[in-house]
Amino acid sequence: MAMYDEISAGAVLHIIEENFGIKYLILNYSYGHWDFPKGNIEIGETEIETIKREVMEETGIDDIKLIEGFRQQISYRYRKKSKIVNKTVIYYLAETTSNKVILSFEHINFAWLNFNHALEKLSFDNSKKVLRNANEFLTASKINNISTN
Ligand code: ATP
Repeated sequence: MAMYDEISAGAVLHIIEENFGIKYLILNYSYGHWDFPKGNIEIGETEIETIKREVMEETGIDDIKLIEGFRQQISYRYRKKSKIVNKTVIYYLAETTSNKVILSFEHINFAWLNFNHALEKLSFDNSKKVLRNANEFLTASKINNISTN
């Protein structure tokens, strides 16, 4: 069967809410699954340019700040008509201060969730693993910030 590769980039996008802590943004794809905002890397784009464009297109959020030092990739296969797609998705960690979301036609719902709820809501184990690592990275860097201030 014919195969081809697809590469997307996406964001573990979060907001830090006073009193409520870290909330992660998860989208409900029209195929049914819940996952992070992401999309295909277009020719000539850097991974970060893709993420900024896709987050803007898929959520309307345009103030994201990329957090340095976090980059993780996952891979999966799926069937598109008569072809097998070998897909890789590269995730960065990004922060926003705006929680207002305007969805595109690609998604049917969204949720800002704390770590445990986001972990439950995500549909795939590979994305859950990315969230676990992102949450550890974030909470570890917060502790470092506190102890050096
Ligand atoms: P993109 O957001 O990158 O443009 P897309 O909306 O075209 O992607 P995917 O989200 O990759 O498509 O979904 C395509 C197929 O792959 C669906 O059948 C979905 O169930 C499956 N899929 C999506 N994410 C994963 C994953 N993390 N692990 C395994 N299968 C996945």
